[in-house]
Amino acid sequence: MRRSVALIGSCCAALALALAPITSAAGPTVQAQAALRIINAPFVGVADPSLRTLLQGIGARLTWRKGQRDVLITRADHVVVAFTVGSGLYHAGGLTLEARYAPYLHGAEPFLPLSDVLSALSLRGFPDGNVLLVEPLLASLDVRSSGGGATVIAAAGVPLVPTLVARDASSITYAFTGVGSSVSGTREVDAGGIRDVAVQSTGQLASARTLLTVDLARGATALPAQSDDGRDFSLSVIAARGQTPAPPGPRVTAVDVLPSAGAFTVAVAVTGDATYAWHRLAQPDNRFWLDVKAATLVAAPRDDHWIGRVTGVRVDQVTPQRVRVALSLAAEQSVSVIPSATGVRILVGNAIASGSPRAGNGSIGSVVSAVVETPLATPQPAATALLTPVPEPNRPSSVPTNPRLIVIDPGHGGNDPGTSAHGLLEKTVTLDIALRLRGILVARGWQVRMTRSTDTEADPAATTDRDELQARVDDANDNGARAFVSIHVNWYSEPDPNGVTSYYSKPQDVALARDVENAVAREAGETNRGIVKSALYVTLHTRMPAVLIETAFISNPGDFARLDSPQWRQRVALGIADGIETYARENPLPPAPTN
Ligand code: ZN
Repeated sequence: MRRSVALIGSCCAALALALAPITSAAGPTVQAQAALRIINAPFVGVADPSLRTLLQGIGARLTWRKGQRDVLITRADHVVVAFTVGSGLYHAGGLTLEARYAPYLHGAEPFLPLSDVLSALSLRGFPDGNVLLVEPLLASLDVRSSGGGATVIAAAGVPLVPTLVARDASSITYAFTGVGSSVSGTREVDAGGIRDVAVQSTGQLASARTLLTVDLARGATALPAQSDDGRDFSLSVIAARGQTPAPPGPRVTAVDVLPSAGAFTVAVAVTGDATYAWHRLAQPDNRFWLDVKAATLVAAPRDDHWIGRVTGVRVDQVTPQRVRVALSLAAEQSVSVIPSATGVRILVGNAIASGSPRAGNGSIGSVVSAVVETPLATPQPAATALLTPVPEPNRPSSVPTNPRLIVIDPGHGGNDPGTSAHGLLEKTVTLDIALRLRGILVARGWQVRMTRSTDTEADPAATTDRDELQARVDDANDNGARAFVSIHVNWYSEPDPNGVTSYYSKPQDVALARDVENAVAREAGETNRGIVKSALYVTLHTRMPAVLIETAFISNPGDFARLDSPQWRQRVALGIADGIETYARENPLPPAPTN
């Protein structure tokens, strides 16, 4: 069943959105002023022309190949959104979210839940007869203060095209036409020459206009707005000379509550480097709180009540040294805490996994990237586990039919949990790392095939372990992959051993195993136990370079805490991706024959 093509392209001036021209390396400029609309139905097929036009209009790309259950949408900001047929969860960046409906197959074509597709793309739809008029939303607002000033950065589901509407000595206002907002309100900043930043949305349904006003401190100067990446809005302010500097220490400048179908998000904007700690109480208390340490609350305190999975949000300066963001949850729910350079996002999502952590901590600001660059521990290769690599041929012995395809194999799954400790299952950790790895690789232009992308066996019909493993091998061999990466978690009968180990079987595996091992040890700060030759089924029987990575020991307390941490899993995924890219760069394929 195909939906009508005619719905797109009827361009009505009153509904036209001021989309900036989007230039892509692949093609010409996408014409601005095209109204975004799509059939108003719970689901949309991946081959639906109106979906394709909508994605093109916002610079996003859909990847799906016949016979695959995974549908990937790469947003213009390179974040990958991944849906899987039959799964009620979807992934956006490093986050797992609950879909309103699970995608299903109609014939061979996957149909996706439309409301989740729109919210993952920072879009909002308004019904108009049997179509939805689709409007992009201002989705994030950050204020970063620096030595002599501050910068306001806003981003939306489309490139932002600001129009200067008002300016005097004390304030400056820009308008974004055709853009709504999920971050309306006023944020008090009182730093870097900015008094406050106000966002206000006006206009009719699907023809919104969002105003962003920056109130300046006396003597401060706003520079003309610009864009850092051709998509966001960036406005820098220079504070007056000799003005009293901002109080020392990190400052919580805004707390935005963004309820959506998939996840309830609380975005905490923090200026300056900070550390935080969070805690979660189990049933029946169901409270979560996050403390930003040594911080000052410059945003207004709040005590809001909601209906839904989160019933209350409270923001307070609980001690002179501590800002607390506390959530009351309607039931026990999973909470993810994602730090960034400009704050921390708290996501309340799908049902809780047993063994989820009750507390954690992290850092915000430049500290975040420093942690990613610097290993937590100096790698100390365990001499017993190190093998001197045998000299390997520089080129793979099989020529991949698909040189950009990487097959990712999340170890175990379904009725096979793998190893476990304190309720944390290997199959859960391997899948999570694999999904993160997929997002990173796809964003970097690789094609990815997963031997499984949900909690299932690779071959649910397999009756033996051998058949199950062969199904994973077949996935790579049958599709002519460039490389095969199997992800696992290690276990030992004693608590001492820790660190990452990469296993290989064939001579052509060695370079890949070494590059992945070193990159993961470096990125994730894990002890580098080196590479080990072993006749493991999946590495032995795959025809392309293959590696089986034992990411860490679930039996070691330090490694357990890491395996349990979403941030660490993201770093492992980043390390594996970097290792694959190093390998690919240093082991180029022979040029394709020309005729
Ligand atoms: Zn395993």
